Amino acid sequence: MAKHPLSITFHGAAHTVTGSCMEFAFGGKRILVDCGMFQGSRTLEMLNAEPFAFKPKDIDAVVLTHAHIDHSGMLPKLVKHGFRGQIWCTQPTADLLQYMMADSGRIQEYDAERHNRRRDRSGEEAFEPIYTEQDGMAAWRRCKPIEREESFEPAPGFRATLWNAGHILGSASVELEAGGARVMCSGDLGPENRAFLRDPTGPKGFDYVICESTYGSRVREKVTLEERRKLLQAEVAGAITRGGNLVIPSFALERTQELLLDFDYLLREKKIPQVPVFIDSPLASEITGVFARYSEGLENTGGTNVFAYPAFHYVKDVQESMRINSMSGAIILAASGMCEGGRIRHHLIHNLHRRDSTVLFVGYQAQGTLGRVILEGAKNVRISGNDIQVRAQIRRIENYSAHADQSELLQWVDDRSPIAGSLFFTHGEPDSMEAMRREMQKRAPELSVKLPEIGETYELTAGEPAKRTATGRTDIQLPTGRDWQNAYGEFVSSLKGRLGQIHDVRKREKALEEMRRVLDSYAGAK
Ligand SMILES: [Zn+2]
Repeated sequence: MAKHPLSITFHGAAHTVTGSCMEFAFGGKRILVDCGMFQGSRTLEMLNAEPFAFKPKDIDAVVLTHAHIDHSGMLPKLVKHGFRGQIWCTQPTADLLQYMMADSGRIQEYDAERHNRRRDRSGEEAFEPIYTEQDGMAAWRRCKPIEREESFEPAPGFRATLWNAGHILGSASVELEAGGARVMCSGDLGPENRAFLRDPTGPKGFDYVICESTYGSRVREKVTLEERRKLLQAEVAGAITRGGNLVIPSFALERTQELLLDFDYLLREKKIPQVPVFIDSPLASEITGVFARYSEGLENTGGTNVFAYPAFHYVKDVQESMRINSMSGAIILAASGMCEGGRIRHHLIHNLHRRDSTVLFVGYQAQGTLGRVILEGAKNVRISGNDIQVRAQIRRIENYSAHADQSELLQWVDDRSPIAGSLFFTHGEPDSMEAMRREMQKRAPELSVKLPEIGETYELTAGEPAKRTATGRTDIQLPTGRDWQNAYGEFVSSLKGRLGQIHDVRKREKALEEMRRVLDSYAGAK
């Protein structure tokens, strides 16, 4: 009897950078590599509330590449809806998940509460959180830590091995073997010269390779740790000269710790004045604790705890966080890194309008996020119901990336070659995936290169190009370009001022009437 070959279905991170989730099926068993949340624009995030495209109780195991929410954030929902298997990952990933999952659950509960307050007033039905903090903890308890480079069986018929991906603490690429096909999933790959981590590793020679392409269209100038610290030093000097605060939106996981590593150096070596550095994110503080536990084995720490410099203040409660608002000359690190939630928003409210303050971006800002809008030079933004004029200096250092650039991604693929079947590019915005395909086809014109869509299934038979057996979801139109909701926010926040510029009251009324007519014409055109 002919057995079905191994198959793969892409449930996310296809033509977009978030929502990583790949389902592998073979011999009646199913495993997921990652189960991530869609993040970025609100349109994209709505996908998180939809039911899974599979039955969670039919999934036998999860192999998790790393603790970032866009790879792990739907695990609590998976468990809530009946998944009872194990989540295989490295020990540091499991340690990080304890805090990441709980925090994500609290955010879901908070978001639902906020929605419901609004709905209460309009008499709509209550909105249930996608999952809770308790679901987050239940997911964490399903973690099964495994050493890298040690073969294991996540489900009967599947062999797997984790390899260093050099992306964040605990991160791994996943080698899988089932039905005679050898597959390598990159997970997220780090660049060379990462602060705490060694360069990615893995074996050569696969039937299928699935490679991320976040920075597939970018070649970064390579800077050393010393050069990057000089850039940071210059930004701090500029901000202190201006006199206000230096506000840095920072991902709680890894980016905050990398900055602390550099601030520890700059402060200890007296390259910058002894200004206070506030870490205003409870999650970042917890995660820094995990890093401190592993600091002996981390690169560039000199084997010491670099997170305990006396000028570092880990802010605990909201009162303490609010006291920072009246300060000047402080460095403030707060999450979220793309300014979509967290305490960074109130620091932006208090600093964006100040000409003497500086906002320094050190991380990727996805399309449609508040961070991207500010970075692109918006003059007005709307934050939590406040209209804010942007007068602060907006600065950026691009060298903190946790992602490999184009040349490093191509190098990683080369190091996994030869590829007997197909190479898939995932986890990138469309232009990045296209750029990777172009580069790859220059090098290997014969190689089958696929850019999968969400919902597509491929058959993976050893030695043969992947065969598509199910087409993608046409109902998902991923927002490309700026999300309309951000454009809306910007429009609304400038509306009153612009109406005010029309001095004749009657003309003002007429302008409003014309706007109404434009809206009606679109509603009618439906
Ligand atoms: Zn990641």
